[in-house]
Formats: sequence, structure tokens, C-alpha cells
Amino acid sequence: MTRHLLDLSLEDLEAELASWGEPAFRAKQIAQWALRHGATTFEEMTNLPAALRARLAEAFEIATLPVIAERTADDGATTKVLLDLGPSTGTQSDAVEAVRMDYESGDEDPEAGALPDRTTVCVSTQVGCAMGCTFCATGQQGFTRNLSAAEILAQVLHFTRQRRVTNVVFMGMGEPLANYDATVAAIRWMVRPEGLDMRQRGITVSTVGLVRAIDRLGDEGFQIGLTVSLHAPDDDLRRQLIRTAGGTSIDELIEASRGYVAKRGRRVTFAYALLDHVNDSPEQARALAARIRGIQAHVNLIPYNPTAGPGLRPPSRERVRAFQRELQAHGVNATVRVERGQEIAAACGQLRTDVMKQNAAPLELSGTAFQRSEPSE
Ligand code: SAH
Ligand code: SF4
Repeated sequence: MTRHLLDLSLEDLEAELASWGEPAFRAKQIAQWALRHGATTFEEMTNLPAALRARLAEAFEIATLPVIAERTADDGATTKVLLDLGPSTGTQSDAVEAVRMDYESGDEDPEAGALPDRTTVCVSTQVGCAMGCTFCATGQQGFTRNLSAAEILAQVLHFTRQRRVTNVVFMGMGEPLANYDATVAAIRWMVRPEGLDMRQRGITVSTVGLVRAIDRLGDEGFQIGLTVSLHAPDDDLRRQLIRTAGGTSIDELIEASRGYVAKRGRRVTFAYALLDHVNDSPEQARALAARIRGIQAHVNLIPYNPTAGPGLRPPSRERVRAFQRELQAHGVNATVRVERGQEIAAACGQLRTDVMKQNAAPLELSGTAFQRSEPSE
């Protein structure tokens, strides 16, 4: 089986090329082509000798992922794609979602104030997810498989071929820290100068809260952001919302987050999906504030994005504001996440769910915002 080029680290690639009798600088040239220039074939790497290009093409492929479906929203500022990973078993193709969000300069960021133009790409790390959050479309699909580092990077590269990407958030399908090695390998290529050379602070990993993996991530030496998905002020409720949370208490999560802050000198974000009359009362806001006061943290409230799931509802705007005010009144910094692309089902896992449903029936892809693109490579 051909290997995916970007599943190798720069050091692996250097070692491989050395074993072929090639000088070390070739690895950097190849990385520049694949990452900076978005090359999809070795043929394009015109400053490499033809014989080396041919040998590379025999040994490796550059994972590009054909587009199965694409939707745009927010006047073109949000684009979501469903990307084809090919079949892992049988003939059913696996697919994951990636989203590009463009922000204009002057938009306010709760942490950094007015910001220059930026483009954030949201990537998936798994096909499905085993964590089973009741409110999440991906969680409802169950777990199929982990993505490789090359497949995670391919999502970013899909968009860097369109424009410069300044930020990457690991908030698509799957739990990044349950696919730790591939996630970290992908981040290394994103931040290293020979790779995408992105600002480390422009990268954020969101986790449902795997404490040992949070500790490990803190030791990697990155300056990347961490978001811990909390969703409840008490363990009973949290375990109802996150079926697999049983073994981990909120106290342990807060300790792990504190550890990350201490190691990295950056505050963490607690994500809190707001579900109407489930976890959104002022009392619950006060209970949450009491637990996280004193740690360098910020709460990001995400009004529930309705999925095809069980009877959960997003709270009214008033309830969202009241929850936010209550946190602030008790000394906790809180913002409400502006949901992008509501009308294209931007919440994680929803496009795949929609397309799978449509595939079950004859595929009906007419409609204004929904175009089917032919697989490009
Ligand atoms: N598995 C990771 C990252 C992917 S989910 C995690 O859970 O953190 C990214 C964020 O979207 C998480 O904070 C998750 O709780 C939230 N989320 C998932 N489905 C949602 C929905 N339907 N409405 C609002 N937020 C949702
Ligand atoms: Fe998995 Fe995150 Fe969805 Fe939970 S919210 S099921 S951890 S992707």
C-alpha cells in the first residue's frame, strides 16, 4: 500500500531520503511543495531531479480528499465541505467535514480585541466519535475510525489552496485527544517553519476532557490553545450529557486545565453547549462560576445547534444572556459563540448526517446552497 507523504514527520522523511542516498535538504523541498504550495503530485516539484520525483511517486501519495458535497453560507464567508476518505471496509466510503470561516478585520475577539482579516479552518480528527455526547450529530453516528495525520492536514490544505489560512480549530468531527498521535503529528506540520509555519496561538484543540491526554499535550511544548468541553456544573448532569464521561470528574478536568495553564502560561477555554432548561439556569451558572473561579479561564457559551437528535432545544436569547450575565457577575469571563453557517448545518457532524440520509434515499442534491462537486482528483 502506498504511504501518505504527510504521515511521515520531517525527520522520518529525511531518514527515508538519506536511505535513498539523497541529501537532507530534499526533505524540506518536498515539504514546502506539499504544504506551502499545495502540490498534489510529485510531478509538480520541478526543482527535484526527475528520477527522484518518479521514485517518490512510487513510494508515496499526497492525500487529497475529493469533495463529496459543499455548502456555503454567510454570503460566502462560511464554506463547509464533506470530504471523501475512500472506503475503509467494504464499498461504503468514509467521509469527514471541514469548514472554512472568513472573518473581516475589525471583528472583535474576546481575547485579542479587534483583529486583522483571518481565515479559520475547522478540522475533523475521526470518522464519527465514540464519546457519545447526546447533543452532538457526530456522537450519534458512533465511531468508525481515526484519521491519519495526512488526512487531518489534507483538510487544511484543501482550503490553503484557496486562500491563506491563519487559524485551525480542532472542533470538527471526532475527539482529537482520542486520536492523539495523529493530532499532534498534524499540529507539528502546521507549526513548523518547513511546514505550514502557522502561529501556534492560531491553533486550538477542543477536547471533551481526556485528562491524561491533556497532561501530555501540555508537555509537548506547543503554545496552542486548549478548549475543554464542560457543558455542566455538576458531575451527574455532565454524565447524562456525555455518555462516556463516567470515569472523569469535573474536579479532575479543572485540575488538568489548571496544569495546562501552569505549563503553557495561557488561559484555557471551557466550552459550554447551552441546552434549554437542561443546563442553562442562573443557579447552574452560579454553580459553574463557583467551580472555575480562580483559574485562568474563559467560558465560551455555545447555544445548542439543533441536530436531528432527541428533543433538545436551544435556549431563548434571553436565557443565553442571563446565563452569561450570571457568570460575569460572579467573576467569570464569558462570551457567546457566534454560530457560523446555521443554515448549512455547521454544527459538527451534521453535513455527513444529512448526506448519509440523502444517500439512503436517491441522492437529491438540488437546492440553492447545495452543490454537488465532482471528485476533483
Ligand atoms: N470532540 C471535541 C471537539 C469537537 S466538538 C469536543 O467535544 O470538544 C466541538 C465543540 O462543539 C464542542 O465543544 C462540542 O461540545 C460542541 N458541539 C457539538 N455538537 C453541538 C451542538 N449540536 N450544538 C452546540 N455545540 C455542539
Ligand atoms: Fe465527540 Fe465532541 Fe461530539 Fe462529544 S461533542 S460526541 S466528544 S465530537
